[in-house]
Amino acid sequence: MSTPRLQDFRRIVVKVGSSLLVDSQAGRLRESWLASLAADLAALHGNGRDILVVSSGAIALGRAVLKLPPGQMRLEDSQAAAAVGQIALARTWAEALSRHGLTAGQVLVTLGDTEERRRYLNARSTIDKLLEWRAVPVINENDTVATSEIRYGDNDRLAARVATMLSADLLVLLSDIDGLYDAPPDTSAAAHHVPRVERITPSIEAMAGAAGSELSRGGMQTKIEAAKIATGAGAHLIIASGHVDYPLRSIGEGARCTWFIAAGNPVTARKKWIAGSLEPKGTLTIDAGAVAALRRGNSLLPVGVVRVDGGFERGDAVIIRGPDGAEIGRGLCAYDANDAQKIRGRASADIASILGFSGRAEMVHRDNLVVAG
Ligand code: GLU
Repeated sequence: MSTPRLQDFRRIVVKVGSSLLVDSQAGRLRESWLASLAADLAALHGNGRDILVVSSGAIALGRAVLKLPPGQMRLEDSQAAAAVGQIALARTWAEALSRHGLTAGQVLVTLGDTEERRRYLNARSTIDKLLEWRAVPVINENDTVATSEIRYGDNDRLAARVATMLSADLLVLLSDIDGLYDAPPDTSAAAHHVPRVERITPSIEAMAGAAGSELSRGGMQTKIEAAKIATGAGAHLIIASGHVDYPLRSIGEGARCTWFIAAGNPVTARKKWIAGSLEPKGTLTIDAGAVAALRRGNSLLPVGVVRVDGGFERGDAVIIRGPDGAEIGRGLCAYDANDAQKIRGRASADIASILGFSGRAEMVHRDNLVVAG
């Protein structure tokens, strides 16, 4: 399959990292770059596509406005800095887009807004409405109220969650780096750029070091995590450098970047929500027979589960791994961790006598299961 073109997509989410928007040395916005990106967004939008922006920069901008000293910030300081920066960020986007006749709509979300299904549906319908009105949602985490346990913390995964929530078919992560390398490019001269990733295997995951700068928390790891979420739910993902003017046009003109190809099987909206789960509460490790059964479209039975990790409740999202540790998929477990532990490796017919009640024959029913591409 040849590499797709940006014009081929219908609904595109573009994630912009803090270090692209804010020149931290000078302590101000990189306005002319933003103007070039806004022109790119307008060109895509003008052709009938839906455009969503996930913009970082609230903390970085707040920091610049408040003239806070460089270095690591405590959570409460970044929360307060974000309160100042988010206003400036929203105004900046509104102005940059309005120069092209586009209307921006600010949407601030917290982790619960996407992880809890009812709130997820609510956030989705609001953003859908903005798109119906041809506005451009400009989305960020509500950093001011998000404390450590309840925050995404990085906008890469947030952007992937937004892309799956709105059934986008493409997510572009604009960042410091022009894609995935098989070794850290700043320290290894022999590092090779990877232009295209068909499947996120353990060796692809191993390529992602933990690099991150002071302002943008997401290193390559969160980008790979985002790619898993997006491609698992049927969206392609691009990691591209934002260090050029007109960064989207540049991708179209062949600038170096990495494409992560979406899993082929189209999935239902509910399954997208499961696939995009940011906080799986545990892991089920399964045997080779169960891996094959899942790939054929079957449910996961207790007999195929060899190991149960984590402290999940009934109905929580879990990661399913094969014997080699590779992620096979994600699903909602019909049993809590305790019961799952007791019935793993056992025949479904024995569940009632082991647990003292008759539960479902499946540990994870196929309707609640998303198998990675
Ligand atoms: N939400 C943070 C901000 O706007 C950025 C998170 C990230 O860098 O990924 O400053």
